[in-house]
Amino acid sequence: MASDDCLFCRIARGQIPADVVRETDQTVAFRDIEPQAPVHVLVIPRTHHEDLTQLVDADPTFAGSLMRDVAVVAKKLGLQQYRTVLNTGAEAGQSVFHVHAHVLGGRAMTWPPG
Ligand code: AMP
Repeated sequence: MASDDCLFCRIARGQIPADVVRETDQTVAFRDIEPQAPVHVLVIPRTHHEDLTQLVDADPTFAGSLMRDVAVVAKKLGLQQYRTVLNTGAEAGQSVFHVHAHVLGGRAMTWPPG
C-alpha cells in the first residue's frame, strides 16, 4: 500500500491528528480512538510494514526495538501491568494494515480474550 493511503503512515507524518503520548525517530505512540481499557495506546513504526510478519521479514532487529518502545511507553504511562497485542491478519482482528502494538492497561483483564 502506498503510504499516502495508509491511515497510520499519515498519523506518523502528522497529517492526521492523534493524541500522541511519545514519539521517537522510529516510532509513534498514540491513544486508540476507541479505547478498550482505561489506557489503550498504539505503538507504530514510522516506516510502513503491513503486519508483524512483514516487519520481521524486513527488519527483525527493529521488531525488537518496537517491543522496547512498548515497554518504555507503558512505563511512561505508569502501567506496571499491561497487555500487549499485535493482530496479524483480518481473521485475527487486524483492521489497520500498518503494524501496530496495542498497549492496554488500567483494568483487570481475563484470558483468553475471546
Ligand atoms: P487492529 O484492529 O488491531 O488493526 O487495531 C486498529 C486500531 O486502530 C483499533 O483499535 C482502532 O480503534 C484504532 N484506530 C483506528 N483509527 C484510529 C485513529 N484515527 N486514531 C487512533 N486509533 C485509531
